[in-house]
Amino acid sequence: MATGKIGITSENIFPVIKKFLYSEQEIFLRELISNAVDATTKVKALARKGELKEDLGDLTVRVSVDKDKKTITVSDRGIGMSEEEVDKYINQIAFSSAGEFLEKYKDSIDAIIGHFGLGFYSAFMVSEKVEIVTKSWQSDKKAVRWVCDGSPEYTLEETDKTDRGTDIILHIDNDSTEYLEDSKIEALLKKYCLFLPVPIGFGKEKEWKEDKYVETGKDKIINDTDPLWLKKPVDVKDEDYKAFYKKLYPTSFEDPLFNIHLNVDYPFNLTGILYFPKIRTNLEIQKNKIQLYCNQVFVTDSVEGIVPEFLTLLHGVLDSPDIPLNVSRSYLQSDSNVKKISNHITKKVADKLSDIFKNNREDLEKKWDDLKLFIQYGMLTNDKFYDSAKDFYLFKNTDGKWFTLEEYKNIVKDNQTDKNNTVIFLYATDKEAQYSFIEAAKSKAYDVLILDSAFDAHFVNQLEQKNQNIRFMRVDSDTLDKLIRKEDAPKSSLTDSQKTDISAVFNSQTPKNTKMNFTVEFDTLSAEDLPVMVTQSEFMRRMKDMGKMGGPEASFYNNLPDNLNLVVNENHPVVKELFKDVEEKTANSVAPFDGELKGLKADLESLEKLTKDKKEEEITSEEKAKKEELQKKISDVENNRKKVFEDYAASNIKVKQLIDLALLANNMLKGEDLAKFVKRSVEFVGK
Ligand code: ADP
Repeated sequence: MATGKIGITSENIFPVIKKFLYSEQEIFLRELISNAVDATTKVKALARKGELKEDLGDLTVRVSVDKDKKTITVSDRGIGMSEEEVDKYINQIAFSSAGEFLEKYKDSIDAIIGHFGLGFYSAFMVSEKVEIVTKSWQSDKKAVRWVCDGSPEYTLEETDKTDRGTDIILHIDNDSTEYLEDSKIEALLKKYCLFLPVPIGFGKEKEWKEDKYVETGKDKIINDTDPLWLKKPVDVKDEDYKAFYKKLYPTSFEDPLFNIHLNVDYPFNLTGILYFPKIRTNLEIQKNKIQLYCNQVFVTDSVEGIVPEFLTLLHGVLDSPDIPLNVSRSYLQSDSNVKKISNHITKKVADKLSDIFKNNREDLEKKWDDLKLFIQYGMLTNDKFYDSAKDFYLFKNTDGKWFTLEEYKNIVKDNQTDKNNTVIFLYATDKEAQYSFIEAAKSKAYDVLILDSAFDAHFVNQLEQKNQNIRFMRVDSDTLDKLIRKEDAPKSSLTDSQKTDISAVFNSQTPKNTKMNFTVEFDTLSAEDLPVMVTQSEFMRRMKDMGKMGGPEASFYNNLPDNLNLVVNENHPVVKELFKDVEEKTANSVAPFDGELKGLKADLESLEKLTKDKKEEEITSEEKAKKEELQKKISDVENNRKKVFEDYAASNIKVKQLIDLALLANNMLKGEDLAKFVKRSVEFVGK
């Protein structure tokens, strides 16, 4: 029997690695099984080349747990190892590479992926002792047994194994007894080994016999050795893709929308199947569903850094030996292979959608609502994807018809181009809430899009930046004539002072709360338009909508009140009537104030004339005091005058009623205000 010392410098490297890699502990099983699968693949290759003459026999890799002996055994019938090979591959290479691994990553173990790199050595993460019993495929080599208890010392002796292959026996340490549970091992096998190319057996199949389950002699095989992604796309049917999806996500109850079968072998190797899931809301729960494999070995379900952010919303599998795994995520993005792979996948995704658009547009339209968020996310975050997707991106109008941007522009441009040559795309975010505005637009033969996704505010911003001659305007962001201004607005018939008075009338009756802030405006709409309307500027509203998605500007915009315009239609008969009534009812009360103001303003004017050419220091303090006094008096009188109009408004139920109707048309009349409106209306009807 030989004993020896493994070439690692530090004596306590085992506890260190156990501690460091605690969270990745479970990968030991994957590593050992990968080695067993490699050894099996190699023996098959030898047989193919004719170097190994004997019958290969059963090649199943078997995993077994002995709870009493506290062991886990992984057995294969692969190439095995001779004494020299154990010495070379295990004592020297495996251990030195593990040593190197630790040396390299000891300061940044969290930053590295933690997946590959440890190999056989990872067995010590859960074992107090590891045995290798192995016999080489070369018949003249003797079987050997290697034992190591985790210290750098090992023993290596001949043993009497007759069958070709390797048994790795882990003597599980007291901290890791959870791995002695069958259910734990089965779960790990299903996670990491589901698609390995060699059958992996764990336990025996059971069958129902005389009212109980009994074990049969047949191995229970965990994996599918020939996963769908390795088949040729022409040989795969739609149902196969769906069934495979179910296999990957047994708990998902919805079918995916489309799939893409990837199959590249040059200049990099990549196979896989990606699925488009239905995405309506909550992006987060959709993320991190893609499983990454390396030669059919599961590596991770976090493909962040390997594919662009928006593609992490897709589901499915990617299998590539060309993705470096033992590097940090930030380094991954700069790897040239990863870049190529990432670009390839982005292009394939865009091509697939473009294909469906060209060949089966109806299907795309049907599924668009479930795809839209994904596509918008892609267009917003990835320029390459934007460039392809802009040609098949679909808009839906309020009548449920679909258009690409170009198609839509051509349809609306005749009627919806403003005097600055900008084509205005009108849209609604809520068909119900903005109903009256949509109808008003339609009555002018304008078309209205429906933009109701969480990303739309950002998305239309992007479209406007990329297409300088179009603008998006929500139907309620202004009166229609101003939304699509075709000629200069007709002049208002009101004088400035009339406007001030009427503003006071309406302003005094707008809802007083911290969430809404009103400005009264006048517009010369037609007599058929509504008498009073509430509009909200596109810019501010869009900023607030964007803020709802989070980001740095979120809290700033969210805390601002809604700035609303109360637009009074001068040409509406009810409004005209009201103007007349205001003038008549206030004339007597206002007259004395007007007289007083006239006097005060004349006094102020002559004082200003007197001091106009004087330098600041030449103006006497008397003059200054007099001026201040006059200004204060004017402001007091003006306030009292304004009060006349406010009192008028309070006494004329029509003012409040007109405002409430406008709010109601925008779905903004709520709670107490709504209750009061109803009560007032009932009284009004009774009159
Ligand atoms: P890697 O698999 O990355 O080369 P490992 O540390 O896992 O590194 O294994 C080191 C070497 O030990 C392998 O390259 C292989 O030559 C040998 N080896 C490990 N497990 C087996 C096995 N089950 N059968 C035959 N050889 C094995």
